[in-house]
Amino acid sequence: MNGRSPRVLVIGAGVSGLTTAVLLAERGCHVRIRTTEYPGETTSAVAGAIWGPISSGPRERTVAWARRSHGRFLELANEPGTGVHLALGTVASREPIAATRPEETRLMTDLRACEPGELPHGFTAGARATLPLIDMPRYLDYLTRRFREAGGELLRSQVPSLSDAAGESRIVVNCTGVGARELVGDAGVLPVLGQHVVVENPGIAEYFVELSESGRWASYMPHGDRLVLGGVAVPYAWDRVPDREVTAGILRRCAEIRPELRDTPVREEIVGLRPRSESVRLKVEHYEGARIVHNYGHGGDGVAVSWGCAHEAAELATDE
Ligand SMILES: Cc1cc2nc3c(=O)[nH]c(=O)nc-3n(C[C@H](O)[C@H](O)[C@H](O)COP(=O)(O)OP(=O)(O)OC[C@H]3O[C@@H](n4cnc5c(N)ncnc54)[C@H](O)[C@@H]3O)c2cc1C
Repeated sequence: MNGRSPRVLVIGAGVSGLTTAVLLAERGCHVRIRTTEYPGETTSAVAGAIWGPISSGPRERTVAWARRSHGRFLELANEPGTGVHLALGTVASREPIAATRPEETRLMTDLRACEPGELPHGFTAGARATLPLIDMPRYLDYLTRRFREAGGELLRSQVPSLSDAAGESRIVVNCTGVGARELVGDAGVLPVLGQHVVVENPGIAEYFVELSESGRWASYMPHGDRLVLGGVAVPYAWDRVPDREVTAGILRRCAEIRPELRDTPVREEIVGLRPRSESVRLKVEHYEGARIVHNYGHGGDGVAVSWGCAHEAAELATDE
C-alpha cells in the first residue's frame, strides 16, 4: 500500500466484515462499514462458537485460513476482554468415527481418543482436545471497539446494489453472508438455519459436540455464566424466529448428557443462517471501476476461518 490512505467500504458487520475492517483500519485505511444489522444482531452473534475441524472448501485454502485463525485465537485467549478462552472438551459420535484425521487436527496438541468410560451413554467413539471457544456477543463487541479505536466508522445502512457500493468507494469488501444471494445474485449461497438455546451455566467448564449427519445433535459451549446449547441444521430455511419444538429437542438431548441441565433457566433462544456455499468466495471482481473483494459463503466455519480470510481479503483490497 503506497501513498494516500485508501477509502474502503466494507459491507456487513458479522465476524467476516468486522475482522476484515479491523485489519484494514489498523493498516491506516479509512474504513466505513455499512450493515443492515448491528454486530449483535447478525448470524455471527448466534454461533457457539468453537474453532474446530473445517468442512468448507476449497480444502487447501480453508485449512490455511483455519491455521492462521487458530494462532490468532490462541493469542486472544491471553488478552482480557476479548471473549476468547481455551477449554478442554469432547467431540463424540454414536457411530464409528473415520480413522483418518483432518490436517487441522494437528494443531490440537493434546488431542487423544476417549477412553470408553469418558463417553456419554449411547456414544461409541470420541476425542478430547483443548480448543479456542469464542463468546460471540463479547467477541463482536471487542472487534467493534478495536475497529472504532482504529478510526473506523460503522453505519446501519443497507447496500441495495453493487453499483451503489461502487459509487461510494473504489475499494469495496463484500462480507454479507447469506445476504450475498441478493446483493450479488449468487444463487450458490444457501441458508442453513441453526438455533441455539442460551441457558444459565450450572457450572460446566468443558465443551461437548456430538458429531451427527442427522441435522440434529447435542452440543454445549461454556462462556462463563452463559452456556450455549445446540444444535440443528435446517437447509433452505430463512425464518429467524426460534422454534419451540427445536428448543425442547435441544434441551432434551443436552440434558440426557448433562442431567443438571434439566432445570437450568433459559435466557434466550437464538437463530442464525449459516451461509453455505460449495466453496468460500474470497476473490476480487472489478465492477464499474471499483475493486470488489468478496469474502462470504463460510458455512458453519466462518468464525474458525475468520482471521485467515480477513488477512487475505485485506491484502486483496489494498494490493494496487
Ligand atoms: C447456530 C450456529 C452455530 C455456529 N457455530 C459455529 C462455530 O462453532 N464455529 C464457526 O466457525 N462457525 C459457526 N457458525 C457459522 C458462523 O456463524 C458463520 O459462518 C459466520 O457467522 C458468517 O459470518 P459473516 O460475517 O460472513 O456473515 P453474517 O454474520 O451473516 O454477517 C453478514 C452481515 O452482512 C450484512 N448484510 C447482508 N446484506 C447486506 C446488504 N445488502 N447491505 C448491508 N449489509 C448487509 C448483515 O446485516 C450482517 O451484518 C455457526 C452458525 C450458526 C447459525
